[in-house]
Formats: sequence, structure tokens, C-alpha cells
Amino acid sequence: MRQRISRRVLDAIHAAAEADAGREICGVLLGEGEAITGWAQAANVAEDPATRFEIDPAALFRLLRAERAGGPRVMGYVHSHPSGDVAPSVTDAAMAAPDGRLWMIVGRGRQALWRAGPSGERHGRFDPVDLDVTEAVAPA
Ligand SMILES: [Zn+2]
Repeated sequence: MRQRISRRVLDAIHAAAEADAGREICGVLLGEGEAITGWAQAANVAEDPATRFEIDPAALFRLLRAERAGGPRVMGYVHSHPSGDVAPSVTDAAMAAPDGRLWMIVGRGRQALWRAGPSGERHGRFDPVDLDVTEAVAPA
């Protein structure tokens, strides 16, 4: 299982994480098929954003509504770990719905991509996904 992401999008995610390096930043991965072609940063509304993230539900709702209206697919979520450990935390595992969506975790210039266990699988299962970084992603 592989996904592609453009260098431009990945750099923007890392820049956002570095700009707020003491807190977890978060957002939504957008794209189509095997290509992540964009992202939308959202406010982290967690009570303790230094160690938790919760994507602003209003922002997520807007993106899902745009998807239904023919906009880019909501492929998954991205958040940062200020520690630089890009493995899912115990909290991440507890929060992840087994919906098959992507989870990208970034920190200190590193990134890892996971897929939250598909429907029917138990909560908290993450399968690693190979990520190819491309200079440009052609439309599917
Ligand atoms: Zn996390």
C-alpha cells in the first residue's frame, strides 16, 4: 500500500509544525486515490494541545461538506508530535476510529503515514503506509 504526496504539501505541513513546535498542530489530508494533493490546517481544540490534538469539528464538518459537494476527498488526518516520535501514541490508538482513513504524524522534520484499521477491525490498529514524495502530483 502506497500513497504519494507532493513535496510542496509535505513542506507546508512541516513548516506549520515547526512554527508551533511546542504544541501539536493538526489538519486534514486532501486528495484522490493514491495522491495526497493538499491539506487544510485546522485549529487544535484539545484541552492540552502540547500532548493531545482534536481537530476543530467545525473545520472538519466544512471539509466533509465540501467533499460531498464534489470537492477534494478527505483522505485522513495529520498531526504533529513535538517530540519527533512519529509513531502513533497510546492516545492516538484510543482515538482512531477504524475507518480506513490515513493518519500522518510529523515531528522535527520526520513523518510517518499510517492507515487506521479498516471497518470491522479493532480500534487502535495502525497499518504503516509507504509514502512517496513527488515534486508534483499529476491530477488523477
Ligand atoms: Zn499523536
